Amino acid sequence: MQPELKVIGGGLAGCEAAWQAAERNIHVQLFEMRPQKMTGAHQTAWLGELVCSNSLGSKLRENGSGLLFHEMKELHSIICRVAEQSAVPAGSALAVDRHIFAETLTELIATHPNIEIIREEITTIPKAPTIIASGPLTSPALAISLANFHGKENLFFYDAIAPIITADSINMSIAVRGSRYGKGEANEGDYINCPMDQATYNHFVQQLAAAEQIHLKSFERKIEYGVDVGHAKFFEGCLPIEVMARRDPATLAYGPLRPVGLRKLFKGDAPFAIVQLRQDDLTHHSYNMVGFQTNLTYKEQKRVFKLIPGLEQAEFMRYGQMHRNTFLCAPSLINQTLQTKKDPSLFFAGQIIGVEGYLGNAASGLIAGINASRQLKGSSLLAFPRECMIGALCFYIANAGCETFQPMKANLGLLAPLQFRIRDKQERKAAMANRALRAFRNYAKMNNAYN
Ligand SMILES: Cc1cc2nc3c(=O)[nH]c(=O)nc-3n(C[C@H](O)[C@H](O)[C@H](O)COP(=O)(O)OP(=O)(O)OC[C@H]3O[C@@H](n4cnc5c(N)ncnc54)[C@H](O)[C@@H]3O)c2cc1C
Repeated sequence: MQPELKVIGGGLAGCEAAWQAAERNIHVQLFEMRPQKMTGAHQTAWLGELVCSNSLGSKLRENGSGLLFHEMKELHSIICRVAEQSAVPAGSALAVDRHIFAETLTELIATHPNIEIIREEITTIPKAPTIIASGPLTSPALAISLANFHGKENLFFYDAIAPIITADSINMSIAVRGSRYGKGEANEGDYINCPMDQATYNHFVQQLAAAEQIHLKSFERKIEYGVDVGHAKFFEGCLPIEVMARRDPATLAYGPLRPVGLRKLFKGDAPFAIVQLRQDDLTHHSYNMVGFQTNLTYKEQKRVFKLIPGLEQAEFMRYGQMHRNTFLCAPSLINQTLQTKKDPSLFFAGQIIGVEGYLGNAASGLIAGINASRQLKGSSLLAFPRECMIGALCFYIANAGCETFQPMKANLGLLAPLQFRIRDKQERKAAMANRALRAFRNYAKMNNAYN
């Protein structure tokens, strides 16, 4: 009899977990509640739908997500394979056509002989062996069941989505194509850049900071030292643009609107700030506003974002939105193999355990899928070393301090420190990446991780 595994959630983590197990000859039942029951952010029934940006992060090995990408590819990640197949030009970032990505992934999963997709909401934790990868928008019934199992309240923060606009509504006599430092793939550059002079920038930031946002209920607001600070608990790595604008008028000019590496594109005076738009589909029909995740009302998004030079006539295919993002206090729940401490044949993966970022979520699914398969076959489980990215990420999730636990993206700061000091930043990053890949390969080979 073929061993059986249940995977809850057909998102990035769940698909990767199901694929890894199926490739190891485990029969997988993959439960996905969409389209019968939708989340607040997903819009389709496809597996692996990307809810906001279409970028999976940097492709460069000297960057946290790029390094993770290289390690995952060596373990035959399905998410990385499909991302490469559906890539759109985006400089040194790996961005995809979101529709082709999700469609291709769904097709591959649905036709795998060892995977059975069941379109059903799971409301209580099934009997193990199971991997729970129900994501930040886990349905309320399952979220309650998880809190009961864990014995702690679920944690949460807010994540926002950036708007998408149609390509033919962008005024290309003002906006200019190009990539930072000319690093793009396409000859004319991968991004569309909308320039702002200082007066336009100041007016834009002032309007943005004062614009009306969708109101949150009082229990959703952040309390600092017993005082209601008047806004939601945001994830610092993904702040709504209006929140950044309110912090300081210069924040955006040093953040998502920084003009660095783009000045040469413009004749005459260099722009004071630049809004970048990234291609969202292979047909060049739609563009994502980079860094413009927002919780403004739709009416205000239309009014304020049209103040950006080149976007005066912008047509919005999707407006920005904000969503409550649930996660568990993973360090008290799981260990580095992503098994729960209470029940070793119950695994967790994805954003529900506080991994942040599309690729990191898929990476945790990959480890959970491999480890659940190994357990079913009676082999030892994998815990990659902290010198490599995948090991460092799992180590953080299992060992961070619970009181201050916050979702974490793949980044070089998670890796075990180098034994020696390298002053030059680029050299230091290259040394860390080289060491990471060496440690990863040694461990994978010694532990037969590829099969
Ligand atoms: C609003 C928002 C914006 C985000 N923007 C970005 C971004 O721009 N870039 C980035 O890198 N990351 C972003 N993230 C964070 C994160 O990377 C993504 O949410 C990512 O998709 C998480 O992967 P996952 O597999 O854990 O969850 P998901 O991809 O959400 O997959 C979970 C799946 O489980 C299903 N499900 C839920 N409950 C049940 C149930 N009870 N039974 C059966 N199925 C269930 C859901 O329908 C879903 O398909 C964002 C998150 C949110 C909420």
